[in-house]
Amino acid sequence: MKIQDNLTELKSSLPEEVSLVAVSKTKPESDLMEAYEVGQRIFGENKIQEMVSKWEQLPKDIQWHMIGHVQTNKVKYIAPFVDTIHAVDRIKVLNEIQKQAEKNNRTISCLIQICIATEDTKFGLAESDLDAMLEAASTCKNVRIKGLMGMASFTSDTEQIRAEFKKLAHLYNQHPEFEILSMGMSGDYPIAIEEGSNMIRVGSKIFGERNY
Ligand SMILES: *Cc1c(COP(=O)(O)O)cnc(C)c1O
Repeated sequence: MKIQDNLTELKSSLPEEVSLVAVSKTKPESDLMEAYEVGQRIFGENKIQEMVSKWEQLPKDIQWHMIGHVQTNKVKYIAPFVDTIHAVDRIKVLNEIQKQAEKNNRTISCLIQICIATEDTKFGLAESDLDAMLEAASTCKNVRIKGLMGMASFTSDTEQIRAEFKKLAHLYNQHPEFEILSMGMSGDYPIAIEEGSNMIRVGSKIFGERNY
């Protein structure tokens, strides 16, 4: 029961205020169930179709977090059940989430993804566009912006990673209405927590390496 051991060990090392999104993308449902059996309820996926099919098969008290980039035309497939969408970075997507949430008579929690990495391959909103995004969100009655999400550069330079997380934490702290700061993955979550993260998204450290 490697998954259960990994998960239990990880959880016991986390401060109480840090919640854990178990990133189960590409992994079979049996792996998710192993984690479920030791109490894990928040799972993160990055593909719409995969998340829908896992939601259909698995227990209904799982909180599904969409951590990947979402295309506008696919929001409708997850709107009936998704708990939180982590990577909102365009007003167009926000408006579509509003529309689909309303149709389903639900409120969907969202995090705004901010581009903090210096490499240009990462998605996310520029820090300077956050106010406009929040303004747009204020008219979306079925969307709740709970906070920010960010991914650090893929680098072994831990000081750079730390500086990027610091930048996001600073922005987060300017908004007392926020409650979630989602940053930190298998390779960098200890730094993220030191810098103020209260939600980490961890996959390979729990489920093992992914084979794509
Ligand atoms: C895959 C993924 C993770 C988890 O990555 P690991 O390195 O396996 O922990 C976290 N966040 C996002 C957005 C991801 O796509």
